[in-house]
Amino acid sequence: MTAAPAGPPAPTRLVVLAGPTAVGKGTVAAAVRERHPDVWISVSATTRRPRPGEVDGVHYHFVDDAAFDQLVADDALLEWAVVHQRARYGTPRAPVEASLAAGRPSMLEIDLQGARQVRETMPGAVFVFLKPPSWDELVRRLVGRGTEDDEERARRLETARAELAAEPEFDVTIVNHEVHAAADELVELMVLGPERHV
Ligand code: 5GP
Repeated sequence: MTAAPAGPPAPTRLVVLAGPTAVGKGTVAAAVRERHPDVWISVSATTRRPRPGEVDGVHYHFVDDAAFDQLVADDALLEWAVVHQRARYGTPRAPVEASLAAGRPSMLEIDLQGARQVRETMPGAVFVFLKPPSWDELVRRLVGRGTEDDEERARRLETARAELAAEPEFDVTIVNHEVHAAADELVELMVLGPERHV
């Protein structure tokens, strides 16, 4: 018996994880990083200041306005957006392309505006909406995080309410009941694809 000729390699899957603020996208991404080191996760550029414990080049590339302008002018970002009417965030294009070309399962953790842009430029990606178990739980998580002042928290809740309405735009919804379960579900999607996800 001869082995069947190998077909073309399966295209590497890009997963775009979005969802309302404070739903735990960052925590789920961190769990994916910890449990599935084979998965490449994009490091965004941002004009926001680092929070305590955040490391430049690991959590974000922290840049000033002029440097961000330059990234935009150079068309070096796959997508970018002003988030919470405050800071700019964007996905450096070259590392995403390199990761996909190397055949690594790859993931972006970005806001809704960014996800919509990637939908236009990379329609083959899988768009995943991370949803809180309930609105009350989302509020609890945002307050509990304690990293924002009252004004910023109110602004983020306003954004979150609008973002929750976008769920039908996505290919798959994952409810973030528990961070490790959500991370495993996400990685399963990268391997099996949304059609196998029940
Ligand atoms: P935070 O300031 O809490 O780290 O992130 C605020 C929001 O920015 C989150 O909703 C996060 O998903 C989003 N975000 C992070 N990186 C990017 C990016 O590269 N592009 C876009 N469009 N949003 C991003």
